[in-house]
Amino acid sequence: MNKLNIKECPLCGNTEFKHEGSSKDFYASGEHFDLMSCKSCGFKFTQNAPVESEMGAYYDSPDYISHTNIKLGMMNILYHNVRRHMLKRKASLVQREAHYHKGRLLDIGTGTGYFAITMKLMGWKVQAIEKSESARQFALDNFELEVLPDDALNKFAPKSFDVITLWHVMEHIEHLNELWDRLHELLDDKGTLIVAVPNSESYDARQYGENWAAYDVPRHLWHFTPVTMKKFAEKHGFTMRNRLPMPYDAFYVSILSEKNQKKNFSFIRGMWTGTKAAIQSLGKKELSSSLIYIFRKK
Ligand SMILES: [Zn+2]
Repeated sequence: MNKLNIKECPLCGNTEFKHEGSSKDFYASGEHFDLMSCKSCGFKFTQNAPVESEMGAYYDSPDYISHTNIKLGMMNILYHNVRRHMLKRKASLVQREAHYHKGRLLDIGTGTGYFAITMKLMGWKVQAIEKSESARQFALDNFELEVLPDDALNKFAPKSFDVITLWHVMEHIEHLNELWDRLHELLDDKGTLIVAVPNSESYDARQYGENWAAYDVPRHLWHFTPVTMKKFAEKHGFTMRNRLPMPYDAFYVSILSEKNQKKNFSFIRGMWTGTKAAIQSLGKKELSSSLIYIFRKK
């Protein structure tokens, strides 16, 4: 296996790291991966993850719900209901934050295309990109939505979009700084960048430590916090305009964290931790399991 051995912090360039723990890949391989943080800026990442070209095998699990549509079990019922609700919330959030009712939208890592088709039906001009061939086929078969493979990102002209969205995608992207540069290039000067990622300083992350399901190693390479996310944005010419909590993620992540540890009554235990996490994040959004960040160009 070719590994992504990080020698320089992608955020600040520092070369000294602290070992934060070891997390297990519960989905696909059962392997352990080291969690590291930069001694200078605190940016947290997965060390020695497989390189992008070899990561495919680590998505090969029927459990990886976001790319499938199997309606089985309590977790899936919960997931699909929450998704329906979140789609509406995301769509209205885009319209509110972008100050456009219709515009040119690029959704990167669109998965099976639910969000992209929602925006298209609302009258937006939508381009969607997804790496997984089977997910692209799903979007075509079910929504007649043509989704482009990930190399399409290099083919658009500068300033082609009013809004770019990445819903739980950035934590997967190997060439992180290149991606940020490309986002800056593709976005119109008055455009809005919307990025949702898990928060490794959330209440539930602190509660579960290295067993926190949203570490999701090795698929998640980067473990952002509100502080490191803001620094990344500033480094690449963006300013942070807003942060919004995603309280439902705490339930899903907590249940999964319990399930991964094979705890008895994992659903109930996870719901309980999720409830506490959601209440905490109402008071302090920096504790939210995941956050939606709204950026504009400087
Ligand atoms: Zn650093």
